[in-house]
This record gives sequence, C-alpha cells and structure tokens, in this order.
Amino acid sequence: MRTPIPDYLTEILDSVRDIKDGEVADYIPALKDADPNLLGIAMTTAEGHTYSAGDVEAEFSIQSMSKPFAYAATLTDRGIDFVETKIDVEPSGDAFNDLSIEEDTKRPKNAMINAGAILAHQMLIGEDATMQERVDRVTDFFSALAGRKLTMDKEVFQSEMDHSHRNLAFAHMLTSYGMMEGKAHEAVAGYTAQCSILVNVQDIAMMSATLATGGVHPVTGERVIKRSVVRHVLSVMASSGMYDSAGEWFTDVGIPAKSGVAGGILGAIPGQLGVGVFSPLLDSHGNSVRGVEVFKRMSSDMSMHMMEVDGVVSRSVRTLNTGDDTSIVTLQGSFTFNAAESLLYRLENEKLSSKVVFDVSRVERFTGVGRRMTLEAMRRLCAEGKQVGLADPEGVLPKPDMGDGTYPFEYCG
Ligand code: GLN
Repeated sequence: MRTPIPDYLTEILDSVRDIKDGEVADYIPALKDADPNLLGIAMTTAEGHTYSAGDVEAEFSIQSMSKPFAYAATLTDRGIDFVETKIDVEPSGDAFNDLSIEEDTKRPKNAMINAGAILAHQMLIGEDATMQERVDRVTDFFSALAGRKLTMDKEVFQSEMDHSHRNLAFAHMLTSYGMMEGKAHEAVAGYTAQCSILVNVQDIAMMSATLATGGVHPVTGERVIKRSVVRHVLSVMASSGMYDSAGEWFTDVGIPAKSGVAGGILGAIPGQLGVGVFSPLLDSHGNSVRGVEVFKRMSSDMSMHMMEVDGVVSRSVRTLNTGDDTSIVTLQGSFTFNAAESLLYRLENEKLSSKVVFDVSRVERFTGVGRRMTLEAMRRLCAEGKQVGLADPEGVLPKPDMGDGTYPFEYCG
C-alpha cells in the first residue's frame, strides 16, 4: 500500500494554487525578485516521518521563522528567568517592525517581534560572546534541528543590511534604555545573518517537529532543547507568532506558528508534528496568503486546532471486578489527572474486597500527577487495612512504594 498522505498534501496545495492575492516582500531587492508562483509544503511527524508536496527543494531565507529557534537557544544559554528580565512574553498586537516596548521596564513585548528578536540574538551564549560566535551558535543550532548543514544567503544579508535603518534604530533605542549588551550595530548584523539562513520546507518542518516533540529530535532521538524551554517558546509562538493577526490566527487555525517575510510559515502541533509551508505572496501583516489558507485547511481537515475538544470521556477504569476475597481494578489508556480522578472516584464509591489488585498492563503511561494520585489510592487502601497488589508486567508504574517502605504484592493473574 502507498500512504495517501503525500496525495492529500498535493490536494491541499492545489486547492490554494489559484489564490493570487498579496504581494511579495519588496523592501529589499533580494526578496522582490522571488517567484510568486512557488508553493510547497512538508510535514514531519513526532516519529520522524517526513511527507512533502509541491516546491520541496526551493530555498528561501528563514527570516522571522528564525525567531522562535534563536529564542530557544537564548533561553537555553541564559536561563528562562534571566531572559524574562529583558524580554517580556506578552502579545504586542503590533506589526513585527513596531518597537513595542513596555513603558516602565523598557522590555520588548516578546521575542517574536523584531526588537525582542534582536535582543534575544544579542543575548546568545553570554555577555562576552563575539558576533561571529553568536552567528555560529544559531547556524549550528538550526543545522542540528534541520538535520543538515544550513548556510546563509549573502545577497539577502547584504540587501537587508543596506535597508536595516529601522532595526538599527530599535537596537540603539534598546542600548539607550540600558537593555542591550554589546554593540547595537553588531546585534543587528548578527540578527540579520540569522534571518538570512537558507531553508526549504522540509527543513522548517523538521525544525518545528522538535518543538512538537517537546525538544527531542524526531530522527536522531536526541534531546536538543529542554522541555521547559520548548513549552515557553510554544506559548509565546501561540500568543505572538503571527504578530497583529495572532488572535485571528489562533481562533481560525489554533496551531503555534511563526511566519517569515520570504513567505514561509512554520507550525508545531504539540505531540504530533511540525509543518512548513512556503509561498511568497504576503498579506498586509506580512504573512503568506496561501500559507495561511493551507494551515486553515489542515487544521480543520486534520482536527489540529489545539483548542478543539474532541470528547472528554475518561474510561481509565476498564473493569472493576469484586470477588469473595479480591477486587481486580483493570486500568487503561493514558493516566492524566482526569483518568486518575475517575479511578479515585470509583474506589471511593465501591465496596471492595480485602485484597485489591491494580492491573496496569493496559496503561500506556502515567503522567507525574496520574502516578502520584494512583499511588495515593494504593496507600489509602493499605491504611484502611487492605492488601494491595499490582500487575505491571511492563513496569509503567515505577517505584510503587506504599509510603512506609513496603510495596504492593506482585500479582500475576
Ligand atoms: N529580516 C526581517 C526584518 O527584520 C525579518 C522580518 C520578518 O520576517 N517578518 O525586518
């Protein structure tokens, strides 16, 4: 059998191909010449499978899609708490090239707008790092995420630098507020080099997939970003990634995302996959027109809106059979708070035998809170004088101590 996923991606592209609205970015010559017909998509699943369609090989500058990844590197290098003293995490509601600085603290509103991203770039590694070290840091990090060596487009870089008055003004403002480490013009040059890194849709799908997995590279299986950093970055992407259309984007699409002026949009669906789309025609917010439509279709066709609730029934207690001297509680699924609550509720309201066995062989996993709540149930039953047993052939419930140094008896059926 051939998987239908690539056909499906092709079909999505075909459904938006005739949309000719929007303009290519024209603020620099290097972007003005982009072919407006280019259209490509790729997705990489949390398991590391990549599917793509359309102009898969076409390379374009990463531009503002670099911001979440550079921010992740800065948060890794300097710590979330310290970075937050310099860059806030509030949606600005402004365009990407508005200053958007908080009046009292002088912090840029977030790291997805230019002022915040320039500062985030400049904070990479440490206060004494050189511009070259910072540029190498992002290039190496992006390359590790993409799974291939990425390079910078020198023409885009030079063109951007010739027209970077506004970004330079932001950097000088931040310097005058005492927020900038090092030299303002180096911050802009480094940030601009970061924005000029060349990618294709497969690269950005792969990079985003590492955000979707919570920081583990889907192909190498290596942890490349801390889970807490990914959570922080995805949260800021969700509220600010699409600039002044972030609210509309999140209600319509519901996927943490980031766009770039070259026409790319990346999205990361937590726990599922990373997506990259490329089409150079932009709307007035600077977001790819066809890219937005592609994401809208994917979100609704594939139920990827993060706020879409599809059923709340927790059938965590598969069966509870009480015999003369033993009650057997068979659990199943993923043990979150809700699943464990359902178990505790049943245990409180059932008449149980003197031996209570928990069969967790059908449980996929316990979350931290799910594990604590299940163990607490066992402890309370013990305290009531019951003998508690556990059937756990796969070891999904590690260290099930009863709080007094004893363990449930092993139950083998
Ligand atoms: N290099 C661009 C800039 O800073 C990136 C902007 C963008 O992609 N929105 O102006």
